[in-house]
Amino acid sequence: MRLLIFGPPGAGKGTQAQFISQRYSIPHISTGDIFRENIRNETPTGIAAKHYADAGELVPDELTTAMLRDRLFQDDTYNGFLLDGYPRTPAQVEALEQMLDEQRAALNAVLNMKVPDEVIVERLGLRRRSDDSVDTVLKRIRIYHETTAPIAEYYREKGLLVDITGVGSIDSIATQIITSLESKA
Ligand code: AMP
Repeated sequence: MRLLIFGPPGAGKGTQAQFISQRYSIPHISTGDIFRENIRNETPTGIAAKHYADAGELVPDELTTAMLRDRLFQDDTYNGFLLDGYPRTPAQVEALEQMLDEQRAALNAVLNMKVPDEVIVERLGLRRRSDDSVDTVLKRIRIYHETTAPIAEYYREKGLLVDITGVGSIDSIATQIITSLESKA
């Protein structure tokens, strides 16, 4: 099973991604997590990405794709993967298509977690705070709408997108995801 998952910050994507990864025995590959690990370990990738990640901005495509490529071509992705946080730009969509062609593989579905902005602001407790980290999250939400959401729409045109309502209990959202994936398979 080869899946992508889209959703704004605060959509509960990480929780659902972990669940899907266990259920289908596929690695959860999050470019955000890989960047954070590189930043923590002060690798060359981490040092180059830190400034962008701290500001809530996208890391340049070339660096992001090189990093993802290394991960996607490891042995454990042979039976599939759940990609979280990539692709986020048209150049990344193209790069992913190229990588999948090289693996003679195709995506099965693209999950699109939808959560209204008001719910995200409430969930993350942003209303009661006012500091730089709030500005950064708001900026990430704005970048999501401007840059990433149109990418999800591209997959809708390809017939791969599955909309998931990211509001409700964790279990009810997980059930929605499984039901949609099983009806698609
Ligand atoms: P995330 O946890 O997915 O929101 O990612 C955290 C940060 O890592 C983002 O704010 C970006 O700075 C960077 N990042 C993660 N994935 C990508 C990507 N596909 N393209 C560019 N930057 C990314």
